[in-house]
Amino acid sequence: MYDRVKYLLSHIFKNLDKLLFNEKCLGCKKSGFLLCNDCINNIPRPEHDLPEYIYALYEYRHPIIKKILTDAKYRKKWSGLKTFGPYLASSLLDIVSEYIELNNYTNILIIPVPISNKRFKNRGFNQAKIIAESIVENINKEDRAKYKLVDNIIKKVKDKTPQASIHSKKERLNSPKGTFEIINPDMLAGSLCIIIDDITTTGGTINEMRRMLLASGVQDAFGLTIAH
Ligand SMILES: [Zn+2]
Repeated sequence: MYDRVKYLLSHIFKNLDKLLFNEKCLGCKKSGFLLCNDCINNIPRPEHDLPEYIYALYEYRHPIIKKILTDAKYRKKWSGLKTFGPYLASSLLDIVSEYIELNNYTNILIIPVPISNKRFKNRGFNQAKIIAESIVENINKEDRAKYKLVDNIIKKVKDKTPQASIHSKKERLNSPKGTFEIINPDMLAGSLCIIIDDITTTGGTINEMRRMLLASGVQDAFGLTIAH
């Protein structure tokens, strides 16, 4: 009885903000959700023109996706990003199970795409880390122990040059050389790394991080993002 009351109270407190501010679904305006399951499931999947090791869940041009990503980045409204946590976690587990079937890994690391110190000072947070945290929170208890979220392995040392100046797709995919630096290679040997970001446009950032991780002893690496 006591446990049930405790559960109900914690449930009410967790959802208090939604009740108080009468949150409405961005899609269908139903109360109590920022984005309901039906509306999430109606967002189109992106076009498949990324390398096979980069997975993106939704089409970035969809207005709801655009709103959630820009609200997070520029208005610090992260609840939208967290809405995708369960969906990203379930995709991640599916993809990892395929990798595990083929190989044994010493450990599995979840690595948010880093932002530079300069950008961190301006923005105060890294949205990729917020997404990575929400993925880990949504991995079921038995599996969670196998995953380690690490944000001290690779550092962003250079902000990118405007993409508009780079024309061909191949060039864009390879553009950010010198952008990252591995700062903590010790735990990488034999691992499987999952690189997390909010959006991938050309795949260039994830491609470059993956290249560096593989060169530092990682056995395999793939990227997972909300949008493409
Ligand atoms: Zn809805």
